Amino acid sequence: PLTMLANARLDIMSALVSFERVFEVLDLKPLLTERADPAPIPGGPLSLQFDDVAFTYPSAEDVSLASLEDVSVLDNRANEQVLHGVDFTVEPGQTVALVGSSGAGKSTIASLVPRLYDATTGAVRLGGVDLRDVSFEQLRHTVGMVTQDGHLFHESIRANMALVNPQATDDHMWSALRRARMDHVVGELPDGLDTVIGERGYRLSGGERQRLTIARLLLAAPRVVILDEATSALDSTNEAHVQAALDEAMSGRTALVIAHRLSTVRKADQILVIEGGRVVERGPHAELLAAGGRYAELYQTQFAEQE
Ligand code: ADP
Ligand code: MG
Repeated sequence: PLTMLANARLDIMSALVSFERVFEVLDLKPLLTERADPAPIPGGPLSLQFDDVAFTYPSAEDVSLASLEDVSVLDNRANEQVLHGVDFTVEPGQTVALVGSSGAGKSTIASLVPRLYDATTGAVRLGGVDLRDVSFEQLRHTVGMVTQDGHLFHESIRANMALVNPQATDDHMWSALRRARMDHVVGELPDGLDTVIGERGYRLSGGERQRLTIARLLLAAPRVVILDEATSALDSTNEAHVQAALDEAMSGRTALVIAHRLSTVRKADQILVIEGGRVVERGPHAELLAAGGRYAELYQTQFAEQE
């Protein structure tokens, strides 16, 4: 009984500490706010516009409950301006590829589109509407994002997919899996859609994880997609499958891609070369290559070996 009492005391102590932390957080002001009377995003294919965007990561004082997850990533880098005068438009249904060395600002640019953060100055617009005027709900349905690590849960494949579309039938799921070149993999699992994936479940390879997150994106069918291509090398079969899945994800949608594959940059309607948070060059592959500038240099170091 004494041990139990001692343990109970420990539990209460740690609970009190947590309460204190919750109240600290509740006192902070929200980082992102939703308008009481949000403006609708227009129907049909959408343009994505960055209008003279500057950005500095919020510092600890700016953080709120709305972005609790970000608290852990706040650090002394937060005071430096990361984006400077970023200005470009992805026309409806077109693909823009972001290239540049690590730390240039590509992921930061991408993170502004689903509104993980707001531009510090300037504006990001979808179909002409400022993201700050749009409802969270409509934005979530309009913009889909596939990141390198692909957020999957230790749950069944069905549960992971239903997350974006609870009404989806098995037929819908299989159709999305087929278009993402994942139907054969799932079809061969003993429990099919009900197979639990992750640490203690069925372990997907890197390429399979990516294709499953792409299948989930196809099921959600957002009009705007943000893709962060994996840098890690895949075997050539996986590579071809992932490429086909990415092509499917981009086709007919407005797409912004952080590109690490030559095949993606070559196909993009426009390439933006990002350096030090600025767009330093822009144009299609052949034009930029011929210009012999920063893109041509990057091509030599990053992409030429993929020829
Ligand atoms: P890229 O995707 O091109 O590699 P990032 O957008 O990730 O570049 O990073 C751009 C700059 O922003 C880097 O200097 C990086 O250190 C900084 N940065 C990235 N994330 C954060 C963050 N959460 N807080 C503060 N600074 C950050
Ligand atoms: Mg990045």
